[in-house]
Amino acid sequence: MELKKTLQKIFLEKEVFTEIKGQEKAKQQLKSALLMGRHVLIIGPPGVGKTTIAKNTAKLLPELTVNECPYHCEPDKPLCPICKTNKNIKTKKIKGEERFIRVQGSPDLTAEDLLGDIDPIKALKYGPTSIQAFTPGKILRANNGVLFFDEVNRCPEKLQNALLQVLEEGKATLGGYTVDLPANFIFIGTMNPEETAATEKLSDVFLDRFDTVYMTYPETTETENTIVKESGQKLDVQFPDKLLKNTLNFIRQLRENKDLIKKPSVRASIGIYERAQANAYLEKEKKVKPKHIAQALISVLAHRIELKPSIKYLQTNEEYLKKQYENYVKDNPEMQGVYL
Ligand SMILES: [Zn+2]
Repeated sequence: MELKKTLQKIFLEKEVFTEIKGQEKAKQQLKSALLMGRHVLIIGPPGVGKTTIAKNTAKLLPELTVNECPYHCEPDKPLCPICKTNKNIKTKKIKGEERFIRVQGSPDLTAEDLLGDIDPIKALKYGPTSIQAFTPGKILRANNGVLFFDEVNRCPEKLQNALLQVLEEGKATLGGYTVDLPANFIFIGTMNPEETAATEKLSDVFLDRFDTVYMTYPETTETENTIVKESGQKLDVQFPDKLLKNTLNFIRQLRENKDLIKKPSVRASIGIYERAQANAYLEKEKKVKPKHIAQALISVLAHRIELKPSIKYLQTNEEYLKKQYENYVKDNPEMQGVYL
């Protein structure tokens, strides 16, 4: 069955993406785009669940019988050179989560890695898509599944265009040959809006082929509180809820701060949650105290933020964080007793 048809059925039958807390708007947008088989670009900072939601999409797909080749060819629809050559190939069953392929976008990613390679001499002798001449790239491994293309904007523009050709026409041009590369997969790309340096801008032509879905930092402190407690490691140390909320509020305030061009992620919140417990544990305390949070702050946060140039030349990340935290403690007396 066509992938979008499969999803159309599933989206009506059950609640999906429940592993992601909050983000209701993003979930709705993603579902709506996927069930029409549209290509999706998720735009959001690191650590907000872009990978998780894409993996969950694959997990929703039912078990499928495929050939024992690396490209998940269906027995009656052989796509890859192996299956086209060997008619007696065995079959196997794969689960939804095995139908997930991740490609990391980078300036070094080549067309050969992504689309495949054709040996010119063997192509003349055996044909360009013969098993001897053609080595398929990662994209064909996503056949019948989800192609998760992380940070697609970091790829060279040439490669972005080649990717478009596959998505739109089901064809790729390799070494002078045009080969059929039917794009029977769900495409979910990502882009980090904060990363403007060292990335290629996505062309208008490229963007015109995608629907965008925005994922944000957790909408409320309560949601972030739940995520941190569910994802973070726990020691036999109590973390008072009020204290945790205050800590998360400090991080959330930093995200609003105009001085920061790179903001602390949810991973930073989880980091403080874990390290504050560890600090209490090392002091043989049963409960996290404000000082344990302060002790964790620089080690977890300093390298996770970036100040805008006009601020960066006046103070280091450490100095900046100390100042911000001191101000925050002044306004939140229950955080006092804290030394950085
Ligand atoms: Zn195959």
